[in-house]
Amino acid sequence: MIRLRKAKIVATLGPATSDLETITQLFHAGADVFRLNFSHGSHEDHRRRYELVREVERASGRPISILADMQGPKLRVGPFAEGKVMLVTGAEFALDRNPADGDVNRVCLPHPELFDVVAAGQSLLLDDGKLRLEVLDNDGERIRTRVLHGGTLSDRKGVNVPDAILPIPVLTQKDLIDLEFALSLGADWIALSFVQRPEDLIDARELIGARAGLMVKLEKPAALDRLDEIVNAADAVMVARGDLGVELPPERVPGAQKRILRSCRSHGKPVIIATQMLESMISAPVPTRAEASDVATAIYDGADAVMLSAESASGGFPVQAVAMMERIIKEVEHDPLYRSLLDAQHELPLGTPGDAICAALRDVAQTIAAVATVTYTTSGHTSLRAARQRPVAPILSITPKLSTARRLALVWGVHSTVSPDVESVDEMVSAACSIAVRQGFANSGDPVAIAAGMPFGESGTTNLLRIARV
Ligand code: PGA
Ligand code: MN
Repeated sequence: MIRLRKAKIVATLGPATSDLETITQLFHAGADVFRLNFSHGSHEDHRRRYELVREVERASGRPISILADMQGPKLRVGPFAEGKVMLVTGAEFALDRNPADGDVNRVCLPHPELFDVVAAGQSLLLDDGKLRLEVLDNDGERIRTRVLHGGTLSDRKGVNVPDAILPIPVLTQKDLIDLEFALSLGADWIALSFVQRPEDLIDARELIGARAGLMVKLEKPAALDRLDEIVNAADAVMVARGDLGVELPPERVPGAQKRILRSCRSHGKPVIIATQMLESMISAPVPTRAEASDVATAIYDGADAVMLSAESASGGFPVQAVAMMERIIKEVEHDPLYRSLLDAQHELPLGTPGDAICAALRDVAQTIAAVATVTYTTSGHTSLRAARQRPVAPILSITPKLSTARRLALVWGVHSTVSPDVESVDEMVSAACSIAVRQGFANSGDPVAIAAGMPFGESGTTNLLRIARV
């Protein structure tokens, strides 16, 4: 089974999509990557969904990526005596360390670290930015604020502090437990939420080792100040516009998205555009024109993947939402303007043998109108560098490692397959040709271009480019 498009679709699983039949339909409608959102649901929920995806994978014979998304240090206020209060614009309101139930004058803020960094003049945003407070002063025990935008505030609503770098670890106690659980299942990607600095990746990197790819969710303005360092340290990136759009004013999100995307394409790191892409499809079978345009813009910009959150996890039309994304992607990719935009932002190869081969692979394939650019890879690196060149022909990625094949399901243009290591150039060519036929890319006589590394089976040796005829 081959997908006739380059960009990939990430579908979040949730209550609406937890049975074999629905997950099978999501896959056939176009989902390449399934996201387990550890902000919701029990370990048993996630285990069941994980196993159902693997069942779909076995039935389809196609490697599928599973992304385990860690909740991260999401800050929340404590509870209220009455469950909720009405904060009136212009009134004073305090957040303090007192664990007693809150009222219209105060509430507990159960995050002691915040009392060290919050300062007068900063903003505190509550409940996804629906309420805004201005800090008047902070004596270390009590943060006194003025309500700038009032509204109803209920128990344990989220708190965002956009103006400060928070001295809190990116992995909470809950995340550490969830992370081990997700790795024990066999998740292909681990996503870290609320990353602020490149150092935030160090512990996760150590814990994960080679067991999964490390994805960074960019949803803090502070992360944008060190964007290139963070992208460089990560294996993949998610533009998490939900929280990013709380902490940044809405008008700054599109520019941030483009900057992040540009940086990821330049570093050759897969990038997902996420959140509210087809938001209205939570409750309607068709999206708004603006949403269709949003998905299309991400594709025109060369994103690796677009993501569905509540649309597929808990909405009324999960399969239609995936199918809609698939149709938008195909329409964009058939537009001649798409290719000219990709080419205009073409990334130059770095001065390495691997990049030299991958750039030549792209050019050669185009010149001879190859039906596929074949990449042999162990770690996935060669396929990633080939994808960075955004070639016209599909990238048929061949690896002996199932974990690599699964991880690459996220990557632009890559059709990944598992096949045993080859031992000679002849064997490499004949295996590439027969896989290209078997996978539906080539017929007898079609030209293919192949990139590989000798000695075979060793990572980081890409040094060989071959043209072959099937
Ligand atoms: P979340 O991340 O759904 O875990 O909050 C995505 C976002 O913030 O956009
Ligand atoms: Mn988020």
